[in-house]
Amino acid sequence: MAELPDRAEVVIVGAGPAGLSAAAELGARGIRGVVVLEREPVAGGVPRHCGHSPFGLREFRRPMFGPAYARALAARAVAAGARLFTRVTVTALLPGPRLQLSTPDGTGEIAARAVLLATGARESSRAERLIGGTRPAGVLTTGALQALVYGAGQRPFRRPVILGTELVSFSAVLTCRHGGIRPVAMVEPGSRITARAPAALLPRLLGIALLTGTDVEAVLGRDRVEAVALRGPGGARSLPADGLVVTGRFRPEASLVRASHLVHDRATGGPEIDECGRCSDPAFFAAGNGLRPVETAGWCWAEGRAVARAIAADLRGGGPARTAERIAVAGDAIRYVLPQRVGAGGETAFRHFQLRLGRPFRGTLTVTAGGRVVARRRVDSLPERRLLLPVPDRAGATVIAAEEAGP
Ligand SMILES: Cc1cc2nc3c(=O)[nH]c(=O)nc-3n(C[C@H](O)[C@H](O)[C@H](O)COP(=O)(O)OP(=O)(O)OC[C@H]3O[C@@H](n4cnc5c(N)ncnc54)[C@H](O)[C@@H]3O)c2cc1C
Repeated sequence: MAELPDRAEVVIVGAGPAGLSAAAELGARGIRGVVVLEREPVAGGVPRHCGHSPFGLREFRRPMFGPAYARALAARAVAAGARLFTRVTVTALLPGPRLQLSTPDGTGEIAARAVLLATGARESSRAERLIGGTRPAGVLTTGALQALVYGAGQRPFRRPVILGTELVSFSAVLTCRHGGIRPVAMVEPGSRITARAPAALLPRLLGIALLTGTDVEAVLGRDRVEAVALRGPGGARSLPADGLVVTGRFRPEASLVRASHLVHDRATGGPEIDECGRCSDPAFFAAGNGLRPVETAGWCWAEGRAVARAIAADLRGGGPARTAERIAVAGDAIRYVLPQRVGAGGETAFRHFQLRLGRPFRGTLTVTAGGRVVARRRVDSLPERRLLLPVPDRAGATVIAAEEAGP
């Protein structure tokens, strides 16, 4: 492995779609001295383990399987001049900016003019979901399942239960199919599936029971999973199964941010940013699923590029022109809004506020800047759907409000 420098122009933490597209874009904009640090042995992020299509439609204009897509992104970043270091974990973010590192050769530090955080998101574990029972083998997240099935060619179980109905849960169904695994049931605590309705056709076509209004209360079994205890409309029951796939409920991988001097947003779970992707320390930027749960690979790729353009502009022209002001959010239906601060000036990476609702909502979303309504949108939406509202050009206190429609 080439020697890791102790100084770089830009350090990117995380070699997933967001980090790699940012590296390629910085190179294309003539920024030299870009270093990408990745803790895994291979670059590419989550798509490395997604042995299914379609990835790459907007990036490479053709459908690709995840591993080929990940390789192509890494190749583009390297071709643009970025230096990629794997098996390097960033362990602390310090003012300067400086980063503390852990490598196979020991610990170290690297300084930079700018840092991009592109650390991605992960699914909530069984423990985080407070599922009771025994601790047998055979309880996995989708990510772990994909690494075993696509990465290692293993079949960790034959008849598991899949908990959750987000898009990634259906990706777990496809992974099972690829690995010759036949799930017994998909279980959803809510009254309807979280992904868009047509996704429900997949389990139906494959003969997998879809149990809504049902939760997993406990895992049963000694060495291996033997059954899953469910509570649903008919009360409690035990469903024989040899595994449990705990899917979705993503959380940004933000432990570095929480332990650092950067402001952390509890609503998104990621760092607070302005419309350029700048964190509260303007030498740090962030892009991709480390900002919020959760978007697709293509979205994160585009976000990485946009924030890279903002970084390049910052490096060329100096820092922000003004202090960004925190937006205000009114209405309890809104779960989070991103970016959380606007008005700093510079190359805008986020032309839209990204919103998620915390519950089903029918009504109006409004953006007010400096006392004037600059955008209004009628919405009839379930939670977890991406909603976009324009970031205002004009300065002044910005308020995003959700007003429920009358009965
Ligand atoms: C299990 C799973 C399945 C998914 N399936 C799909 C799918 O089929 N299609 C789709 O479009 N999206 C899918 N997603 C969403 C996925 O997150 C995006 O596709 C995309 O990979 C996000 O890109 P990213 O660059 O933000 O993060 P990631 O791809 O997660 O990349 C982040 C990288 O940062 C590295 N990293 C994190 N912390 C550190 C650190 N401290 N030091 C060094 N490196 C670090 C990680 O190892 C990782 O490689 C899935 C997500 C998960 C978790």
